[in-house]
Amino acid sequence: MVLWIGVDDTDSLQGMCTTFLATELVRELTQDFDLIGYPRLVRLNPNIPWKTRGNGAVCVRIGRGRGSSIVVGRIEDRDIRMFRRSTHGPDPHVVNGRVASVVERLSRFEDGTTNPAFAILRYPPPPGLYWRAVRHVVSIPEALRAARGRGLVKQYKNGRGAVGALAATAWRPHDRTYEILAYREGWRWGTPRRIDPESVRRMDRAFPSTFNNFDFENHRVVIAPRSPCPVLFGIRGDNPTDLPAALAELEGEHPERWLLFETNQGTDDHVVTGQSPRVNETARMMGRVESPARTIAGGHVVFRIANIDVVAYEPSKQFRQIVRQLSVGDRVRVVGAIRKSPRSLNLEKIEIVELADVNRKLANPLCTDCGKRAKSLGKGAGYRCVRCRARFPVQAAPTIRVARSLRLGWYQPPVGSRRHLSKPLERMFRGSSNMGLRTHRLNA
Ligand SMILES: [Zn+2]
Repeated sequence: MVLWIGVDDTDSLQGMCTTFLATELVRELTQDFDLIGYPRLVRLNPNIPWKTRGNGAVCVRIGRGRGSSIVVGRIEDRDIRMFRRSTHGPDPHVVNGRVASVVERLSRFEDGTTNPAFAILRYPPPPGLYWRAVRHVVSIPEALRAARGRGLVKQYKNGRGAVGALAATAWRPHDRTYEILAYREGWRWGTPRRIDPESVRRMDRAFPSTFNNFDFENHRVVIAPRSPCPVLFGIRGDNPTDLPAALAELEGEHPERWLLFETNQGTDDHVVTGQSPRVNETARMMGRVESPARTIAGGHVVFRIANIDVVAYEPSKQFRQIVRQLSVGDRVRVVGAIRKSPRSLNLEKIEIVELADVNRKLANPLCTDCGKRAKSLGKGAGYRCVRCRARFPVQAAPTIRVARSLRLGWYQPPVGSRRHLSKPLERMFRGSSNMGLRTHRLNA
């Protein structure tokens, strides 16, 4: 028996603080109860229009631990231990007041878009609630229905946070990653973070099970947020036991506390497959390139497949170079969010499945009667010999097959411009050999 506590939508546009709130919940509740399983950071549909940040909710489980325990955090010079199993959990009403006081103390009620909520449940809602919330849009009544009879839900302001709070408790991982989050001392919040970039590069190389640490293409530390929130940095990885050691490798500002989260980041759980894509969902589609890629105002690159414009936005940087090399007829698989207006797909990653033959005209054809070189009659109109008046079709011109520099395989934006939920190619192809940094063959 475990008590499931979910919290969402407590942070403001100024920063990601819901995970900090989770550390405060853990600090408070582990004085009397045991932490069961890892604390969870659960990202939900990144395309929800009223969400402009990472859309992450948290879930913490408490009970009375049995068996062995491991250290998953350090808060106020106290080790935070986690048990895999629990004999029994407390009644929701026993911790209600304490959870409420943490949520009320740390929520940014003044922010117009912040609508906090928490849930304390004896049993989690069915996993379908999580899948709908990570891929689609869930209404508040729908979320509350899924939790009925399982415990209590407290909503503030418009109550929207109940959707994420409940969805976070509904997550039963198929795939999972981990993130160790380190936090700053209170007096430093809002000041520039001091993290030695060289130590981040060193850590990245020393711990191959981690990912999205350093943008080697743009020479940028990616583990630190750019908002004035309490987070110092977060290191993501596949192996939770590597992460405290990876944290110790970093040099710079000393973290005031840290906590290891189990998360759905980097899993592609948000990607909808096998149906026609709808607005505000992330789709995976296959098609042939219908128009050559073109660069539009702002530096974004656009091409068209299956009657939809696919856009590689400027922040995706070098990724756009791949998109620019596409030719009409190339077969690609794309993953990205469907935008309403203009209706388009915001490219998260692309697989080049098949390259079309591209031929370039070498010269006008020679007249088959007199051998004189024929004159063009205009684009697509063929040729005519000025001496004999003989006409020749477009295909009569000698052409050469253009060598394509683009190679088959998957491509993704640089580390700094990926979405939280997007599965990095390093994870898609972990364990396969002979992989370049950005090019990965599907069947390798
Ligand atoms: Zn001729």
